[in-house]
Amino acid sequence: MKCPQCGHPMKTARENYMYRESGLPNVTLVGIEVSRCSSCGEHEAVIPRIEQLHRAIATTIALKAPGLTSAEIRFLRKCLGWSGADFAAHMGVSAETVSRWENGSATMGSAAERLLRLATLTREPAGHYSLEVLKDMARTKPSAQRLQVRVEKGRWNAEAA
Ligand SMILES: [Zn+2]
Repeated sequence: MKCPQCGHPMKTARENYMYRESGLPNVTLVGIEVSRCSSCGEHEAVIPRIEQLHRAIATTIALKAPGLTSAEIRFLRKCLGWSGADFAAHMGVSAETVSRWENGSATMGSAAERLLRLATLTREPAGHYSLEVLKDMARTKPSAQRLQVRVEKGRWNAEAA
């Protein structure tokens, strides 16, 4: 293939690729196909199944030891498909707080960090539990949940009534 920048032929090889496009400084994609131009330095990586890749990265970040970096916070937020405003609404903080988390001028508190991790980890398996619920939490008055709980097939099953 030809370099889209300068037209020079590009060389394609499998390599361990530093995935800087993710915004994360330390993610290496092992053995992926990368075309490089020796003339101008342009490169193109073939990254298969990007969505699943991002989920795999996000899950690992959500399970890491306490303390998320600003880049990790931004990555998780984007993986959740949230704009900055969505993020602020879900976390119950101001837009300014979100920008401070993401530019590194403020550290995320531990409750917010736990919520972001939980949202990331439960996003797929609990798809029926809409994260939209979190947005409304600050706006609604608390009221006791009405439940109907019954034994079905030998197990307790609770349902909102
Ligand atoms: Zn080139």
